[in-house]
Amino acid sequence: MPRPGARRALTNVADLIASGLAASADAPALQRVATDFQIRIPPQMAAAAAGAVDGPVARQFVPTAAELVVAAGSLHDPIGDAAHQPAPGLTHRYPDRVILHVTRTCDVYCRFCFRREVVGESGPLPEPELAAALAYIRATPAIREVILTGGDPLTLSPRRLAALCARIAGIGHIEVLRIHSRTPVVAPERTSPALIAVLKSVPVLYLVIHTNHADELTPAAVAALARLADAGIPLLSQTVLLRRVNDSAEALAALFRALLRHRVKPYYLHHCDLARGTGHFRTTIAEGQRIMAELRGRLSGLCLPGYVIDIPGGFGKVPVLPGYVEETGIPGRYMLRDHQGRLHPYADPEG
Ligand SMILES: *Cc1c(COP(=O)(O)O)cnc(C)c1O
Ligand code: SF4
Repeated sequence: MPRPGARRALTNVADLIASGLAASADAPALQRVATDFQIRIPPQMAAAAAGAVDGPVARQFVPTAAELVVAAGSLHDPIGDAAHQPAPGLTHRYPDRVILHVTRTCDVYCRFCFRREVVGESGPLPEPELAAALAYIRATPAIREVILTGGDPLTLSPRRLAALCARIAGIGHIEVLRIHSRTPVVAPERTSPALIAVLKSVPVLYLVIHTNHADELTPAAVAALARLADAGIPLLSQTVLLRRVNDSAEALAALFRALLRHRVKPYYLHHCDLARGTGHFRTTIAEGQRIMAELRGRLSGLCLPGYVIDIPGGFGKVPVLPGYVEETGIPGRYMLRDHQGRLHPYADPEG
């Protein structure tokens, strides 16, 4: 029987009940959730969740009956990955960069995932599809950056990842490889010497780590981040703003400060996307703006991510920061808002 701290991941409703993370009375509802959406909580996160069964880690990973509620406006493909797909597994929305979905598998299945209808245990992108995606990239010289995402690219074996990175690095016009992953935090044991050797072999690589609460940063996760930083790999983070997980200035300040201490630069704070069964996680944009305004001035600028929303339907990410610049109605004249909310006049140079 799996217990919190056990070596095996929790992957079904029976596991959750046996580990004390779910009540047996909830089993029928959770079984219905499980028919639509994957469950997986790796050992480190199961232990962190068990430490606070109604806490910010448990809320992100333990399924609840609230996922059966389909809110008005929810979408199967909220950020429109499929709207700009020149080859299977490839999303090309901005001219200079593409997203390559190299696998649909993750180490953990987040209950708020924006790709929750496609992630699962199907494994790596099959070779013919990968070859077609790489052929498109090769034939499109405007692409400078390839972003590996998923699923989670770091669930691939180091050997498979090495082969993939070498193929991408072999395309002359690709200047930057970026990997988005939750693995260093949720399954830190994967950040092995073999994996680090692969990452170091890529000429220009940026690693963006998805993490949403300081409680995820277990000693093992912190050690994994240190191994990556010591290997010289530039580290950034992305965080999803989630109701009752991290929707306060205190929670986000603690997370962003911890990331900076561990040599990770906060990059994006994402407004929660309109995926099916995730309405209970969504804040309003006004709440996000209020939190960001509270953080500005209070935290080092290095700690502050850009607050962005993916426009539903595949129109891309846009900043949704609160207004620091007010128009006055007179051309070239503005009022600038400081971090305490006071307004100051500003005039553009004449002519
Ligand atoms: C988010 C996203 C990117 C990366 O955007 P950046 O702002 O460069 O981080 C690229 N392509 C697609 C389709 C995306 O959704
Ligand atoms: S790790 Fe990323 S892709 Fe996987 S379930 Fe979580 S949010 Fe979705």
